[in-house]
Amino acid sequence: GLAGNRGWRGMWRDPAPKPEYDAVIIGGGGHGLATAYYLAKTFGLTNIAVLEKGHIGSGNIGRNTTIVRANYFLPGNSEFYSHSLKLWEGLEADLNYNVMHSQRGLINLFHSDGQRDAFVRRGNAMINQGDDAILLDREGVREHLPYLDFEQTRFPIYGGLLHPRGGTARHDAVAWGYARGADRRGVDLIQNCEVTGIDIENGRVTGVQTTRGAIRAKKVGMVAAGRSGQVAAMAGMRLPVESHILQAFVTEGLKPVIDHVISFGMGHFYISQSDKGGLVFGGDLDFYASYASRGNLPMVEHVMEAGMTLMPMIGRAKVLRSWGGIMDMTPDGSPIIDRTPVEGLYVDCGWNYGGFKAVPASGWCMAHLMATDQPHEVARRFRLDRFATGHLLDEEGTGSQHN
Ligand code: FAD
Repeated sequence: GLAGNRGWRGMWRDPAPKPEYDAVIIGGGGHGLATAYYLAKTFGLTNIAVLEKGHIGSGNIGRNTTIVRANYFLPGNSEFYSHSLKLWEGLEADLNYNVMHSQRGLINLFHSDGQRDAFVRRGNAMINQGDDAILLDREGVREHLPYLDFEQTRFPIYGGLLHPRGGTARHDAVAWGYARGADRRGVDLIQNCEVTGIDIENGRVTGVQTTRGAIRAKKVGMVAAGRSGQVAAMAGMRLPVESHILQAFVTEGLKPVIDHVISFGMGHFYISQSDKGGLVFGGDLDFYASYASRGNLPMVEHVMEAGMTLMPMIGRAKVLRSWGGIMDMTPDGSPIIDRTPVEGLYVDCGWNYGGFKAVPASGWCMAHLMATDQPHEVARRFRLDRFATGHLLDEEGTGSQHN
């Protein structure tokens, strides 16, 4: 800073698009960058480009509340998120980049006997998968989170499920780390380059049209998160995805006060404290389909009320900012990583509320799919046709309440 930033180099190049690549990835968010990184690193495919309509990190990868966990219940999701958490645990060494991954522990609170039963089952599923879960009774929760309102409240706390390896990571740094890693392996990261059309000949993808000209490619990956429906429509496809708004909030910076990630079981509210000191919190969707990156007041009110119910001390903090992001919601709350009916065209979408934690495994599995044409073992149930065949992975609640 004192040097006035003189002589600093950008962390990645700013290349002009080439007329042809072996593969292009539409979307320079976390999933697109991770896909490019693993395509280059694991499969040696370096004549590839990531096409991003804005700048790297301008989508949900820079808008989320940064929670990373592996506490899914159903086979299909369970092994995928478990794999992702293991990748997170080695990510900083792999990227040689500090993504501030902090395994501070996640506590999901429960407030009834029925909720306790559900969390006991979830905890057992997590342990069976090889991950960690500890059931806390009320006093156990009190030891970790003494500042919660335990009794003078409409929804007394019965206990919580502690996931010690859960936590947070610095979202922008994840984008930057993957971007730098991909760029250094020769991947072209092309910003301000919106894909406006997908070229298909005889059932096979041949390239894309962009605001910076046509680009030919034998393989195209659609990794556009909240815009997935629009991008797939360019290939004549209608995805089983609806785009909805999710909001988040941050307060002024405070001294360390919340050292876990906490989620409320009786209202839509979850919270953690960033390393800068801001309390970062959010709730549920606004519940109407939209492409606006901002939300509306009823959900703001709900989240604030839920926060005040759970931890009245939060009322003394001043909210600095709120924002929204566009979520690609599938009917069963689980993602899609699959081939499409168009040869050479692949899709990675449907991350709902919870795709930040999935970034490493999604990139890993999408790269595997694009390079080998075969689904990776841990993502084999994320099929596009499951809504036609009925093989759903109905785990919406995990995403919705706990991010
Ligand atoms: P994005 O960063 O949105 O990347 C998609 C990119 O595609 C964008 O940069 C966009 O500009 C680009 N694009 C779109 N159309 C085109 C086009 N035509 N041409 C070129 N480029 C295009 N997940 C968690 O696991 N934990 C959380 O705590 C969490 N909290 C969240 C809180 C909020 C408020 C929000 C909004 C999301 C949260 N999520 C969370 C979800 C997570 O952020 C997303 O699931 C994930 O970031 C989506 O993948 P991505 O990073 O690739 O998306």
